[in-house]
Amino acid sequence: MKNTRRKNKAEGENIASERIKILFSLADRAALSGDLQVASRYVERARDIAMKFNIRLGREYGGRFCRGCSTYLLPGKTSIVRINSAEKRVETKCLSCGEKKYRPYVKEVRERRRKRNSPVTGPKP
Ligand SMILES: [Zn+2]
Repeated sequence: MKNTRRKNKAEGENIASERIKILFSLADRAALSGDLQVASRYVERARDIAMKFNIRLGREYGGRFCRGCSTYLLPGKTSIVRINSAEKRVETKCLSCGEKKYRPYVKEVRERRRKRNSPVTGPKP
C-alpha cells in the first residue's frame, strides 16, 4: 500500500484519527459478537496508526485495550475489573498478559484537578 500523493501533516493526522475511531468501533462490534481475537487485531491496527502519526490514544480509547499486549479488554472475558475501595481506584487486569491498570475514581480525579487549579500551589513572586 503505497501512497505517493503527499498530504500535509495535519490532514494526515485527521485521516489517521478518523481511521482509529473507525477501527475502535469495529473492535467494539467484533467484541460484542464474541470475536475477541478480531477485536484485538483491530486494536493493534489502530495502535499502529496512532504510533505512526504520533497520536496519543487518550482517555477515549485507553481503557479499552491492554497497553502491554493490545488485547481488547472486555470485563469478564479478557479482563477482570475490580474496585479497590481502600485505594479508591478501579483495577483492570488483562487476562492475556496479566498487566494491571489502575484508574482512580472519577470523583477523585475531579478533586485532584480542582486542587491543582487552586491558588495554594506555593508562593508566587
Ligand atoms: Zn495484556
